Amino acid sequence: MYVNTKEMLEKARREHYMVIGAGCWSLNSAATFIDVAAALNRPLILMLWEGAPEPLAEQERICEYVRHAAGKTPVPIAMHLDHAHDLDTIYSAIHAGFSSVMFDGSELPFAENAEITREVVKVARACGVTVEAELGHVGQPGDEPGQSALTVPEEAADFVRQTGVDSLAVSIGTVHGVYQGEPHLDLDRLKRIYELVEIPLVLHGGSGTGLDLLKETMQYGISKLNVMTDLVLAAMKAASPDNFLPELEICEAIAKSLEGYMLPLTRVL
Ligand SMILES: [Zn+2]
Repeated sequence: MYVNTKEMLEKARREHYMVIGAGCWSLNSAATFIDVAAALNRPLILMLWEGAPEPLAEQERICEYVRHAAGKTPVPIAMHLDHAHDLDTIYSAIHAGFSSVMFDGSELPFAENAEITREVVKVARACGVTVEAELGHVGQPGDEPGQSALTVPEEAADFVRQTGVDSLAVSIGTVHGVYQGEPHLDLDRLKRIYELVEIPLVLHGGSGTGLDLLKETMQYGISKLNVMTDLVLAAMKAASPDNFLPELEICEAIAKSLEGYMLPLTRVL
């Protein structure tokens, strides 16, 4: 069933589990992830990020396939545009049939981030598309100090009130990519955000965080977990130069990697 993320994430927040936002990069990866969700009877959000894979025609092709494949299973599947920085990209994704978009204004001043998010929400809502925004900034490993900024709980509440956004990505210590050293999450901060903000919260940089920590965050409103690095690492490992046709091994490896997150973190429908 092809859906937006509204009901699936609100249900996940209420019942304290997470829907996995799986970063995909090809028709094959999208097909593999849908098969996993259907086999495990769990909801799934497929994600493409702004600019990749280029060109837009390929994004449209993946989106068209996902809508078709999602229609063949009773499991709710959404197609989400991750980390879009400009309105044109968001509008063309909505036009291409994405059911969910993220406007990432996390590096903008609060007022500007809120203003553009509000604009995106207005357009998206009219098209039945859900919107994720980010407040605070989830950085990359090796960032200069100050490039990542943790979410301020009171600001998050204000932001949600001002924008009407459907879900909010928060920065509590995860990073995109591969961690350097042990992950440390600020759970007290998350708890405070959860008390003040009533919409589903999103955790970016799920890869490498560890299931124990992730299970704690879902007690405090984290309802969507973005995972991509681990899926890509699994694909790279399976793409051995010794394999004549590595495609099947890759599909098997990324399915197993996604299962590793979905089985313990996402509830059966
Ligand atoms: Zn992200």
